[in-house]
Amino acid sequence: MTGSKISYCGGSVPVLWEGDVVVCGGGAAGVAAAVSAARAGRKVALLEKSICAGGMLTNGLLPSIIHMTDGVNMLSGGICKEIVDAVSEKMVVKPLYNWHNIHPEPMKRVLDDILLGAGVDVLYNMHVFDVISHAGHLEAVLASGVAGKQAIRGKIFIDATGDGHIAMLADAPWEMGDANGHTMAPTLCTLFERVDFERRPPDYRYAGSGRKEWREDTEKGVAPLPEHHFVGFFRNGPTSGNGNLGHIYGTNPLDPISVSKACIEGRQQSEIYLNFYRNRVSGFQQATLAATASQLGVRESRRIIGEYIMTHDDYVCRRRFTDDIGCFAYPIDIHAAGANASEQQNVEIQLAQTRFKDGEHYGIPYRALLPKETENLLVAGRCISCDRAVQSSIRVVPGCMITGQAAGNAAALAVEHQVELRQVDIKQLQQMQRNQGIWL
Ligand SMILES: Cc1cc2nc3c(=O)[nH]c(=O)nc-3n(C[C@H](O)[C@H](O)[C@H](O)COP(=O)(O)OP(=O)(O)OC[C@H]3O[C@@H](n4cnc5c(N)ncnc54)[C@H](O)[C@@H]3O)c2cc1C
Repeated sequence: MTGSKISYCGGSVPVLWEGDVVVCGGGAAGVAAAVSAARAGRKVALLEKSICAGGMLTNGLLPSIIHMTDGVNMLSGGICKEIVDAVSEKMVVKPLYNWHNIHPEPMKRVLDDILLGAGVDVLYNMHVFDVISHAGHLEAVLASGVAGKQAIRGKIFIDATGDGHIAMLADAPWEMGDANGHTMAPTLCTLFERVDFERRPPDYRYAGSGRKEWREDTEKGVAPLPEHHFVGFFRNGPTSGNGNLGHIYGTNPLDPISVSKACIEGRQQSEIYLNFYRNRVSGFQQATLAATASQLGVRESRRIIGEYIMTHDDYVCRRRFTDDIGCFAYPIDIHAAGANASEQQNVEIQLAQTRFKDGEHYGIPYRALLPKETENLLVAGRCISCDRAVQSSIRVVPGCMITGQAAGNAAALAVEHQVELRQVDIKQLQQMQRNQGIWL
């Protein structure tokens, strides 16, 4: 506690922390942002509403980190690679940079270690609910935790909440979903135990997928749910794996009632999928449901409008920008919003059609991290400034970590040189990214 107070809503709130860079949200993007800013010598706080870092990587029971390379170049060789290397060591497996299955428990420890090792002041169990700002300049964020309302003051703020929550509170413009505001259906991921992998094909990535059996049941009309885009189950331990199974169609990720219903429906679905695996997929007869995710797997919500909006055309043209902070190559992967079968089936066709050739990629301009109508705020992760097609590509973990790392480095440069975020020396930022393993 700093001992000082800040005016808020006609009263005052104690200031818990004061420093250079405040990162809100401790998922893939937030960890990368906090670590890079702290390693650059800045005093950094990371605020996370749950009690561990990782977001989808831990609480979300995400099965895999995919597409770190473009088939030739290691695009996200920075903090993302460090994390994959460290978690694979704990899992006693070889790191696979284009498809690394992860277990949430070793991941939690890896993220604690990397944050503390970088000197980040980690503030778990702190939900940011408001900002104090004047004409686009953020002075502090307000967070709620066990001690009640507290303020966290900084010079630069980074919104890595996935939902663009802080940018929205700071009155940055945003958009969401398709022309009707519909978003990709979320999934509540699952952790299964007691799988007998001896009875599965010897392929680590797909062992136990279940896709074939689900397709057969769908064709026969006996599948227990109307699911035509079956992602699957991915091994992450001697007898365990995470399921990215099913979709909760019709969910509005920004409506608390809809989100609550989705969490309940997701838990109902998890039992249905467990029974399907037990009855239909060899090796799963004794499987148990060890956990359902404690974070709903939201694929898209707000896209914050920044100084540049990356577009489908940029993707198709593999466009590069003078202010690129990294490059990415994952295909366009828009999951359907509703239960319509043809819409769902299109997802896999589109995925295949928008795959680049090896060595091809598109650039991510720094301007996509700079929300309009704000001064000292950056966005990182799945809520950066892009259209829906690009969001569906860049939202995977390595893409989020490239933008997180850039946001942390840009914040560090702005503080060091006492300049506005829009005046940061791009060449210097790009050199930092390169030096830290990001391909440019
Ligand atoms: C079902 C599903 C399957 C996926 N499959 C893959 C896959 O196989 N491979 C892959 O690479 N990617 C996959 N993705 C995409 C990827 O997991 C996410 O898009 C990515 O992890 C998002 O990272 P993020 O840091 O932007 O957000 P998140 O991981 O959501 O992190 C945001 C963090 O901010 C915190 N937070 C939010 N609001 C606040 C607040 N107000 N105050 C404090 N803290 C807050 C949250 O608790 C969370 O920890 C999948 C996504 C989903 C939903």
